[in-house]
Amino acid sequence: MPAGFPDFRLGSVLATSFTGTLTERRGDAVERIPTPQRLVDWLTVNGLAVDSCTTAQLDLARELRESIHAAATAAALQEALPASAVQVLNDHSVQGRAAAILTPEGERRWRLSSASRVEDALGVIAADAISVIAGERDGKLALCASPTCRAAFFDTSQSRTRRWCDMNTCGNRQKKARFTANRRKEAGSAE
Ligand SMILES: [Zn+2]
Repeated sequence: MPAGFPDFRLGSVLATSFTGTLTERRGDAVERIPTPQRLVDWLTVNGLAVDSCTTAQLDLARELRESIHAAATAAALQEALPASAVQVLNDHSVQGRAAAILTPEGERRWRLSSASRVEDALGVIAADAISVIAGERDGKLALCASPTCRAAFFDTSQSRTRRWCDMNTCGNRQKKARFTANRRKEAGSAE
């Protein structure tokens, strides 16, 4: 990994892992795919390897990402889906030409129509987002409780009461903040 770039947040749901390449949207936003090469890296990590990516393709990816975020946020809040976001999702899904391949081990892989077709990879991500937003999968869209994050995430916990997009970052920060506040309170009462 090239030094100096923010690392990726890995999740089990492709679409929300993708929206997680921009974090702290309500605070000091962190862009985790700042260059075309970082999008290549992200796609590789997520089973959608491409050879290269242009600046224009990176722009397309970010447009899709923000549309997924907008549509997933609306879905989590049970509000009407923004028409422009729906359009972008559908356009990407239609334009993608990736094929699902079953491996001899019984796993699904994606085969892109060519190694330079970032659009195929984005089509897979768009289709994943559609299945999540349409409620086809076992889980529930929710928004992270962190006020500086508010990321849409897919809660697959049994009780559907997960509060944070990521336990290791937002969840931990919240716990630490509470711990510090309690310590202050204790210190205050001791005076
Ligand atoms: Zn979060």
